[in-house]
Amino acid sequence: MSTIKLHDKYFNPYLSKDKVISVVDKLVQQVLEDCKDEIPLFIGILNGSFMFAADFIRKYPRACEVSFVKMASYEGTNSTGKVTQLLGVNEDLTGRTVVILEDIIDTGNTLQKIYEIFKNKNVKTLKIATLFFKPDVFKKALPIDYIGLSIPDEFIVGYGLDYNNLGRNIDSIYKLTTPKMTNIVLFGPPGAGKGTQADVLKEHFNLKHISTGEVFRYNIKNKTELGLLAKKYMDQGDLVPDEVTIKMLKEEVDRNASAKGFIFDGFPRTITQAEALDEFLSEKGETVNGMVALEVPEDILVNRLLERGKVSGRSDDQDEEKIRNRFNEYNTKTAVLKDYYADQNKYFGANGVGSIEEIAKRLSKVIEKL
Ligand code: AMP
Repeated sequence: MSTIKLHDKYFNPYLSKDKVISVVDKLVQQVLEDCKDEIPLFIGILNGSFMFAADFIRKYPRACEVSFVKMASYEGTNSTGKVTQLLGVNEDLTGRTVVILEDIIDTGNTLQKIYEIFKNKNVKTLKIATLFFKPDVFKKALPIDYIGLSIPDEFIVGYGLDYNNLGRNIDSIYKLTTPKMTNIVLFGPPGAGKGTQADVLKEHFNLKHISTGEVFRYNIKNKTELGLLAKKYMDQGDLVPDEVTIKMLKEEVDRNASAKGFIFDGFPRTITQAEALDEFLSEKGETVNGMVALEVPEDILVNRLLERGKVSGRSDDQDEEKIRNRFNEYNTKTAVLKDYYADQNKYFGANGVGSIEEIAKRLSKVIEKL
């Protein structure tokens, strides 16, 4: 079992098929014990309980009757609080022992509706059996007779439970991944001060700084295969091909698996890289929290780079033509990323002109809110 994607969200394995079946077995035994002298009517609550009800009833060794009602309360991953009955009870329930089979009880809104529906049906006994129960979010003072498994407040799918209608056919249980990292894309044209600011911010927020440019330069210095490959692009101010850069970035992230989060500096630089980063982080249950952009006018940048070139020793900083080409690469391939993140409400611009401290303060303010 590994991570699965349903619609836009990722889910990790939570309870195996065997574990779920053992919980169903336990519930069957408990109900059997209490229904020694009767023929219970099991009523499954659709849609979520269809798999649980099928397994439960299949395992119930004595005479029983089966019916279903259909209710809905979820939209996406949140209970709406509004429960609607879409399919009702047709049977005469007078004098019957009715056992409700629910897949999960969380807020208790559906349970309340169940009690309302069965109140005036003259049943002898109404029992509630639920496969899963979330005690932390249950808000009602209503009895639940049989609880299969109490679980923390996680959004789960599988074994009949869905996320926007997907996932019901999975025979085990998966839970929604919850991000633990803070991942910042530090953005801006060449010379905007990303590296300088990343040095300040990584200390302040205890994040791992990954500069793809730095990693390439390290590889060039050490004459690695990657370095040799990257050099011919970097020397011209061209972007290194996506395939190479993405692979390298992933390796850097994996090498720092225990990091609290990352400051990505100089990555992504193309839409393909941004999509690869999203996909890669999602697989880990993580996400890009925001793109924080240093906004600096281009004429200031060229001068900054030429000044830096006098001390940095970087050949791509010393030649105005190469600098212009880097801006060209930025404007044609990278600048579009502003829209990519803005479309997800993840773009945050900050004025990149001023002292290092002033700019760091502006950026910190943005990052604190992410
Ligand atoms: P930087 O240190 O971020 O200014 O990057 C210096 C050079 O490294 C760039 O001009 C590119 O040639 C290369 N480079 C750095 N990051 C990337 C990236 N994400 N994609 C492609 N090339 C990159």
